[in-house]
Amino acid sequence: MDIKTFRRYGHAIVDWIADYMDQIEEYPVLAQVKPGEIADRLPKTPPVESEEMEAIFNDFKRILLPGMTHWQHPSFFAYFPANTSEPSVLAEFLTAGLGAQCMVWQTSPAATELEEVVMDWLRQMLGLPEGFRGVIQDTASTSTLCALVCARERATGFGINKHGFPNGSAQKLIVYTSEEAHSSVEKGVRIAGFGKDHLRLIPTGANFAMIPEELGKAIDADKKDGRLPCCVVATVGTTSSTSIDPLRPIGEICDRHRVWLHVDAAMAGTAAMLPEMRHILDGVEFADSFVFNPHKWMFTNFDCSAYFCKDPKALTSTFEILPEYLRTEVDPRVKNFRDWGIPLGRRFRALKLWFVIRYFGIRGLQQKVRSHIELAKEFESWIRKDPRFEMMAPVTMNLVCFRYHPPEGNFTEEELERINKGLMDELNRSGKMFITHTELKGRFTLRLCVGQTNTTLGHVQRAWEQLQACVTHF
Ligand code: PLP
Repeated sequence: MDIKTFRRYGHAIVDWIADYMDQIEEYPVLAQVKPGEIADRLPKTPPVESEEMEAIFNDFKRILLPGMTHWQHPSFFAYFPANTSEPSVLAEFLTAGLGAQCMVWQTSPAATELEEVVMDWLRQMLGLPEGFRGVIQDTASTSTLCALVCARERATGFGINKHGFPNGSAQKLIVYTSEEAHSSVEKGVRIAGFGKDHLRLIPTGANFAMIPEELGKAIDADKKDGRLPCCVVATVGTTSSTSIDPLRPIGEICDRHRVWLHVDAAMAGTAAMLPEMRHILDGVEFADSFVFNPHKWMFTNFDCSAYFCKDPKALTSTFEILPEYLRTEVDPRVKNFRDWGIPLGRRFRALKLWFVIRYFGIRGLQQKVRSHIELAKEFESWIRKDPRFEMMAPVTMNLVCFRYHPPEGNFTEEELERINKGLMDELNRSGKMFITHTELKGRFTLRLCVGQTNTTLGHVQRAWEQLQACVTHF
């Protein structure tokens, strides 16, 4: 592509994105297409000859756009958010423009040094301990996998990296997490070679948070049986209900048994920017590693996962590998982030964080996050006042777990599930809002999570009105 054409389409695409952001509420939140519909409209074989940008861009709008779910629609209340913001999108554009691969310091010193700086900014913003050092990973799943592999290596004197799993020894290493933990923990346990059978799901209390005494008992029992407790993954803000595992008593147990503590605060970590929410990280100084995703709730577009560790040496001793072609001058002042995680190649992700933090400032970021929490509380108050609905979990921050319970008649759990699923599907089919569900202690639960950058009281009010109108059909 010649520069003239690039410039022309660059401008056209920025204009298109600006219009898209401006008019996003005209789109249905959830894509209203059937499986296979988009693929059927695409050629089965790749083009042999070059095509015009005009045709490619038109097909993007005509064929692909109807198959998009609009995560940046302010009535997106599903899952956890993956929000973004204008400064983040602009920085991502620059990252693509630079096209740098930032695996070691010399492949882009600015990328490495900016990453160090912005990760330390994040550390300060969340009130994480001074000694923690950060690195950007792609996702929380990868970050948790890194933590599990490091825990495995520290517990075995970095022996499994070297010798593989000696006969029978793998079965001795045990990982603990709560029954409400994210599936990425089990995935990491499988990939890191612990095996699913060696993951203990610790019971949770009425608030869906891990019961530390149960953790203590499980560790004691395993030790008695000759096993080696290796890692505890605590969650701050579980996916189903944003419950908060109490880090202090969990950390004390880990400390006593010399077990690695990893904290998964994928979405909720952002809330620790608020002084009134800092309590969610009480005891975080016990953690060996900690992850939260600016790509969830900090207005930084996917992907950007902030991983912190207390002892970077444990990380680099686990992941460092040095083929000759990557050997560069050793300067103790320099970090090579390729040794801080799984992939060798690394995108320049720090740039978008830098843009976002500077553009909003801490105060601006706090205001947005605080307003989301207030909106969730507001929605909760409406649910509580209406006898047709019931709350299913405490609201700890920006997520409301509830369900419709028709006032007349006795309903089984199966009937309530069918009714609420029908309600959710009808709401989502309307295209006006998007919510998702979960199961809490065996009970089907609807979740409304406030976290899109531009969600206001009006959007939450309209969701409530739509919900009220919809329940009359059930
Ligand atoms: N941990 C928790 C608590 C989550 O809620 C999620 C996703 O929602 C994850 C981990 C996985 O995040 P990622 O998509 O960044 O791997």
